[in-house]
Amino acid sequence: MKIAYSPIYRYELPAKHRFPMEKYTLLPEQLLYEGTVSEEVFFAPEPVSETAILRTHTAEYWHKLKTNSLSVKEARAIGFPMRPELIARGRVIAQGTLDCARLAMNGFGVALNIAGGTHHSFADRGEGFCVFNDIAIAANELLHAGEISKAIVVDLDVHHGNGTAEIFADDPRVFTLSFHGAKNYPNRKPPSDLDVGFPDGTGDNIYLNKLYEVLPNLLDQVQPDIVFFLSGVDVLASDKLGRLALSLQGCKERDRFVFQSCKDRDLPVSVSMGGGYSDRLATIIEAHANTFRAAFSVM
Ligand SMILES: [Zn+2]
Repeated sequence: MKIAYSPIYRYELPAKHRFPMEKYTLLPEQLLYEGTVSEEVFFAPEPVSETAILRTHTAEYWHKLKTNSLSVKEARAIGFPMRPELIARGRVIAQGTLDCARLAMNGFGVALNIAGGTHHSFADRGEGFCVFNDIAIAANELLHAGEISKAIVVDLDVHHGNGTAEIFADDPRVFTLSFHGAKNYPNRKPPSDLDVGFPDGTGDNIYLNKLYEVLPNLLDQVQPDIVFFLSGVDVLASDKLGRLALSLQGCKERDRFVFQSCKDRDLPVSVSMGGGYSDRLATIIEAHANTFRAAFSVM
């Protein structure tokens, strides 16, 4: 198992953005502390190349990011105050997902990014705290390089993967699956190849039964060369933005089932973390740590 770790730039974020960033440093500390992983599994990705960015994002959008010239409206849609450090971090995260995919395909079976899952980023714009679409960049780069001919995105973050869905809408080489809260953000949900929207308050049983029903068949049908798993833990009942009601145990079982289904079919998995906004930081860390523990025990 390998884990991509992207440094967090210590510049002043407004208070409301500081708390959500804590998990990116606390999670690796927790995994090391409890002995799930050792230091050697971590690696530091380089920034993704401009060429790779431009296989997914438009030249105009990339130019605006590079020259820090997004309009106020465009920056507000992303939700962070735009800083060069954020662009730099976004590039490292995208490369992390690409590296994870390559490592997973080349002997490791699974590799995980301590970040990523920025699925609200479109070809020509960002929104919902997403600047680059890491999974789209990775998939497009692997397709271009001829390292894969088919990918599947298993997006189980509670929010619909609108950016990813739109980017791959006309591309049969990438199958997009999104499990999400039907009434949750984003309002406009461009169709994925398969969308499963759950009503508010959906709990473990309904959610997991749907996953058991859908995922194995889909993997058999699509026969991907790589699985991109977006493992957002904002499906929890304790999540402030989620509107679903999974338990920690249910969320852990979700992750275990994804890994087991991939393992049974010898499919490599690249994991991007996605969202998690429970009140207690400890709950967020525990839920994300469960994804890593499941990857480690199953794959
Ligand atoms: Zn989310």
